[in-house]
Amino acid sequence: MCLLARGVFPLDFIIRIIIILDVKASSNKLAVKQNRISPPALTRQRKVVLDVVRSGDTHPTAAEVFQAARKLMPAISFATVYNSLRYLKQAGLVREVAFGSGASRYDRETDRHDHAICSECGTLVDFDLPGTVELIPAAARASRFKAESVHLTLVGLCPQCRDPK
Ligand code: ZN
Ligand code: MN
Repeated sequence: MCLLARGVFPLDFIIRIIIILDVKASSNKLAVKQNRISPPALTRQRKVVLDVVRSGDTHPTAAEVFQAARKLMPAISFATVYNSLRYLKQAGLVREVAFGSGASRYDRETDRHDHAICSECGTLVDFDLPGTVELIPAAARASRFKAESVHLTLVGLCPQCRDPK
C-alpha cells in the first residue's frame, strides 16, 4: 500500500509512505528478545554472513553479501549465503528490505527506521524521523489498514549523484 504525496518536498523527491501490516514483525521482535537471553549458536557460515551484513551500513544485496563472504570463507556457496540470510532474517538478526523490482537488500538495523534511496545509483541510507510514526493514524484511515508499523522511503538523488565531481 503506497500513498504518494507530491509537492510537499523538493521537486526531485517522491515520498512514499508504506504501511506495513506485518504479523511477522512482532514475532521477529520476540525472536530478538529471546536471542538476547539465549543467543542462537550460529554455524560458521551463518556467523560469516551476519558479520558481513553488520560490517557496514550499505544494505547489501544477497549477491554483494556473497562476494564479501567469499573473501572471509572462500568455499562458501551462493546457496549457503542465501539460506543463511533467510535464517538470520527469521531469527530477527537482520531485516530484508525490498524496493520496487530491485533485488532485496539486507539491513543490520532491525529497529524501525526510515530510508532514502538514490534513483540513480541505488545508494540506500538510513535516517530516523520522529515524525514518521505520527503519520500512522491518518495513513491507517486512508488505507483502512490496521497499522502496526510505518516506514518512510525518500526517493531521489544522493549527494554524489546530485553534484558529480
Ligand atoms: Zn546516487
Ligand atoms: Mn536501513
